[in-house]
Amino acid sequence: TRVVQEFDKVVDSVCPFCGVGCQTKVAVKDNKIVQVDGRDGPANENRLCVKGRFGFDYVMSPERLTKPLIRRDDAPKAGDIDLRGVDPLTIFREATWEEALQRAAGGLKRIRDEHGGKALAGFGSAKGSNEEAYLFQKFVRQGFGTNNVDHCTRLCHASSVAALMEGVGSGAVSAPFMDAMKADCVIVIGARPATNHPVAATYFKQAAKRGTNLIVMDPRGQELMRHATYALRFKPGADVAMLNALLHVIIEEKLYDEQYIQANVSGFEALKNKVKEFSPEAMAPVCGIEADVLRAVARTYAKAERSMIFWGMGISQHTHGTDNSRCLIALALITGHVGRPGTGLHPLRGQNNVQGASDAGLIPMYFPDYKSVENIDIRGQYENFWGQTLDPKRGLTVVEIVDAIHEGEIRAMYIMGENPAMSDPDQSHARAALAKLEHLVVQDIFLTETAWHADVVLPASAHAEKLGTFTNTNRQVQMGRPALDPPGDARQDLELIIELANRMGLGWNYSHVSEVYTEMAQVMPSLRHISWERIDREESVVYPADGPDVPGNEIVFSSGFPTTDGRGRIVPADLLPPDEVPDDEYPMVLTTGRLLEHWHTGAMTRRAGVLNAIEPYGIAAMNPYEIKRRGLSQGDMIAVETRRGTVEAILRADREVADGMVFMPFCFNESPANQLTNPMLDPYGKIPEFKYCAARIAPAARA
Ligand code: SF4
Repeated sequence: TRVVQEFDKVVDSVCPFCGVGCQTKVAVKDNKIVQVDGRDGPANENRLCVKGRFGFDYVMSPERLTKPLIRRDDAPKAGDIDLRGVDPLTIFREATWEEALQRAAGGLKRIRDEHGGKALAGFGSAKGSNEEAYLFQKFVRQGFGTNNVDHCTRLCHASSVAALMEGVGSGAVSAPFMDAMKADCVIVIGARPATNHPVAATYFKQAAKRGTNLIVMDPRGQELMRHATYALRFKPGADVAMLNALLHVIIEEKLYDEQYIQANVSGFEALKNKVKEFSPEAMAPVCGIEADVLRAVARTYAKAERSMIFWGMGISQHTHGTDNSRCLIALALITGHVGRPGTGLHPLRGQNNVQGASDAGLIPMYFPDYKSVENIDIRGQYENFWGQTLDPKRGLTVVEIVDAIHEGEIRAMYIMGENPAMSDPDQSHARAALAKLEHLVVQDIFLTETAWHADVVLPASAHAEKLGTFTNTNRQVQMGRPALDPPGDARQDLELIIELANRMGLGWNYSHVSEVYTEMAQVMPSLRHISWERIDREESVVYPADGPDVPGNEIVFSSGFPTTDGRGRIVPADLLPPDEVPDDEYPMVLTTGRLLEHWHTGAMTRRAGVLNAIEPYGIAAMNPYEIKRRGLSQGDMIAVETRRGTVEAILRADREVADGMVFMPFCFNESPANQLTNPMLDPYGKIPEFKYCAARIAPAARA
């Protein structure tokens, strides 16, 4: 913390939004944040995007929760009722902390004691710190006695992680995105970095300017395509067809690295057999990219000295999301484009701490550092460490938990900083589940759409009010520092987890967040040599590190993979259609995503003045030619319908949207895109198919 003349203080911290992990200087005057600038962090070199620079005033919003709330006995269950404009105090009454915590913990304890731990579940947050994620999963596992703990990684890169764990033995990136500057060829597929990882996008653009062959693959057009050597707008859902065609060319033309494969890779023969049928000529009509372009792209990627692949939700949010990632892993493995500077596999992580929260065990199948809960030896170690018998079976994932509530198996939940009432697919089904819970505790900074369903609401701390570590997409562990105190009676998230744990009999005793970090680092080999003090001193330390005084390893897999036999494993992918394809009744494809100015469910950015002023209304975007053909105009109110519901939104003309497609951002609660999305899951990653479902449009009733 430094004192600068015009400000009361300037605090060194990190951005609360995306996984890039930009380091920030947060200026405070009169107990308000008045300015945020970039610092010279390894991932941003002084840069910030519009969200990081101007999206800070949500922290001081008058809508912040400042008192604990308890649902009134006569209040209706929220369900799918539109609560906008309703005075919260008609639904809730203010309570003391003692009453609220007793009520919150008492309800969880009662259901655990009467129905067993499997009747409970918890959603932690990718926006919380590593320490919060670690304690949250420990609380659910130790206090509830179940592995039913998950967070929004399930909705973003779960399928990528499933494929990476299977293929290369680690769910994290193999190289930082800054390495694009060292690459001769960069593929960006199913990601829109200029919108969702804007500072990372600046590195890709710079690389292209310096001569790197940038290949951008996306059914929707995007800004990065202007900088690309090849821009492939393939047919939505046809990822495997296109990627297997690239693999076909590389194998047919012997562009693979035989020596590397022999030394490091298994499964090559099976891949060879599988992709025989995927010639570019056969796949061109399936994926919509001409055969000679597919051949040229395959040659460019394979022949380059150093090639990298970046991907995002366009790859992962499909029922074949794991297969999509398997193809990308196969591309890197057969060409040896991994383990060296300027090469590698990089799933661009979405939230500021989704990497760290997953690493810390906030997922139902793994303890911290991706150690299986079903492995008896590992479980035994945790039972000794935490002094308690633990659930031997993997828990349920986000969407499975919603289904289990409907089936009466789960009766109570603790949700910290997540908003499933907006983020889950088939939203009406998800909201009905929240309404059905016997007991719901929500800990958040706003009365989110999820909090409206709660029995007890615990007002918590914003990112700018907390001390803790955050791990970005590059595996860089960085320190977030508080600039303000939480408003009113709001309290630190970490304190609240500890309060609830102790009221459920766990007897925890932590006096500082650093003690939680130290305990977590004890069970996470990935954090060896990375102490709290080191992060505080160095600001950013990449894991894994070989010693306390040497920089961490930005590039991994230089000498084999952390798999049982040390080899990377190729799993060939079959061509499977999306779960719900267009038909006569629903002839269009609905795809969902984010906007540059709004973050995820909008809980923060819709309360940020500048950002919400730029994008204030719920929209649905279509190609201008298609709009004209249908006799509609930009600005019309339209109804987007799928088999799960109808949502009205303002029509926007957008050349980037393909013919036959409608795009909706999922941040607008007045036009909630997730009321329409398909909850069908990828069988491995258990991620829903947000990127594709059948839809139709019509003029809206309220046009
Ligand atoms: Fe924040 Fe991401 Fe923007 Fe950087 S690129 S300022 S981390 S939202």
